[in-house]
Amino acid sequence: MCGIVGYVGAKKCTDILINGLKKLEYRGYDSAGIAMFEGNKIKTIKAKGKISEGLIPKVNEQHPFAAVSGIGHTRWATHGEPSDKNSHPIGTDRVSIVHNGIIENYREIKNYLLEQGYSFESETDTETVAKLLDKNYNGDPIDTIIKTLSHIEGAYALGIMFADHKDHIFAVRKESPLIVGKGSGEMFIASDVTAIIEYTKEYYLLEKDEIAEITKDGVVFCDLERNKITKELQIADWDISAAEKGGYDHFMLKEIHEQPDALIKTIKPRIKDGMPDFSECGLTDEKIRSYHNIYIVGCGSAMHAGVVGKYITESIARTPVIVDMASEFRYRNPLLTEKDLVVVISQSGETADTLEALKLSNKAGADTLAIVNVVGSSIAREAKMVMYTLAGPEISVCSTKAYMVQTAFMYLLALRIAYAKGTITHIEIKQLVGELLEIPNKVQMCIENYEQYKNVALRLINTESLLYIGRGLDYALSMEGSLKLKEISYIHSESYAAGELKHGTISLIYEGMPVIAVATQHDLLEKTLSNVKEVKSRGAKVILICSEGMQDIKDEVDHIVYLPKARDMFMPLTAVVPLQLIAYYTAVYRNCDVDHPRNLAKSVTVE
Ligand code: GLU
Repeated sequence: MCGIVGYVGAKKCTDILINGLKKLEYRGYDSAGIAMFEGNKIKTIKAKGKISEGLIPKVNEQHPFAAVSGIGHTRWATHGEPSDKNSHPIGTDRVSIVHNGIIENYREIKNYLLEQGYSFESETDTETVAKLLDKNYNGDPIDTIIKTLSHIEGAYALGIMFADHKDHIFAVRKESPLIVGKGSGEMFIASDVTAIIEYTKEYYLLEKDEIAEITKDGVVFCDLERNKITKELQIADWDISAAEKGGYDHFMLKEIHEQPDALIKTIKPRIKDGMPDFSECGLTDEKIRSYHNIYIVGCGSAMHAGVVGKYITESIARTPVIVDMASEFRYRNPLLTEKDLVVVISQSGETADTLEALKLSNKAGADTLAIVNVVGSSIAREAKMVMYTLAGPEISVCSTKAYMVQTAFMYLLALRIAYAKGTITHIEIKQLVGELLEIPNKVQMCIENYEQYKNVALRLINTESLLYIGRGLDYALSMEGSLKLKEISYIHSESYAAGELKHGTISLIYEGMPVIAVATQHDLLEKTLSNVKEVKSRGAKVILICSEGMQDIKDEVDHIVYLPKARDMFMPLTAVVPLQLIAYYTAVYRNCDVDHPRNLAKSVTVE
């Protein structure tokens, strides 16, 4: 994870670096730091903790700086605890670096450097790269970088400064993302566009094993053999407002409110003549019919969207779908052949586990389809076919709108598969697509019901532990609801298939324990209600989330939340809204840092 930023130009760089880091803070907030050219020296300021609490007070003490170029980093610790000394930038008198990723052979490099007389101040893997660059330095930065990289194994994006190359920044990447922003008379590097969108919308995507040498007048790209590379300029199609809170207390709340719009933007362009259309990525009906197995692979909420995908595809397209957590898929030696389709889902398109699962699938010859939000991301580029969710940047670590549009895509895919396989008629599909297009309005109605969810949150704030239960699609929803709550409110919760409880977990129920039961599926309602009765008779306080029209069950539970009516199949898209907002208000009432939950970061670019 971690965020990298860099600036070379004519303006004082401190504010630009700090501004950029603030935009990237969702990628990690264990510590932050900046390094700048001051005369022929590199000045570094870094501190443990969030930018506003650690770095900014330190910078203010030492202000003003005249420096016009520098690099910055916001860290999600992998090697070494969050501390001042493990913060980046890390370096020597000659070189300073910021790093995103993990150096796998850092022990070996460290031992070699110790033998060469180097000592180490931090516990990071990153310091081995900084010191190896120092050791290899021969006055030619590119040559030194190439030589150093030939000894490094692992994942990285690096921003590098050499003290004797004033106002030059070097950047290189392997698995972790990095872009080079182009302004007028100023240039940037960043882990993603959000960090620089305030200054420029134009940027280059740095590819694997490419090196960029950046000055205020431009950038020169080369490969590891020093061959020059010409790159296409990309233009970001959103503006700064997307990366700011816009009057909301938290990014999470803002992004929950953006869901109806994100749904419309994602679904509408993919409907042609009333039918889901995948021609933009080349997924034809013929291809669909040829697949033997369909896998859906993702992590966290993206995997939960995949579970919805499995249930609906199996139900309407009568086609088996295997859903996997990317971290498990990769190491379980999956039975992949060139006759299979692997659908990978990721918001950032950089999720390391998912990226590796994708590479494995490509290697096995399977067809691969990526559903990602970030244009040009590693997963988007690695997959044979790509479809973008058009949710705009998601800043909150806790995913909401990205999950929503990923799930919407599952419907489009399931409907297309069903059509291609002939399990559903043209007319039926058009009817379902019409209903899908009404969902954004229903999501809006759910959002407007927020007072109801506040009442539920008030019932949860002092609890130690709770359960989410449901069957079928409601089980998929329970998984997502439980993840949201534990992620941001730190209340322990588990999701359970309602019928499975009695096989062990029901022993956890104690007097007064909250249980959130999701019951949106009419055909499973009676069964779920039996499970509700089972937990209630053991003392649980049940909060039921169900559709309007299920009024007669009101007396069976302690609290009830109604959702606007929609076809059962589409309920995951609306029912997730109360689950998100219950988690949100619970976290707010518990004074948790909603957008920066402890120990987490967005865009998990390490395994
Ligand atoms: N592995 C490095 C560290 O622990 C970088 C982690 C990151 O990507 O933030 O400092």
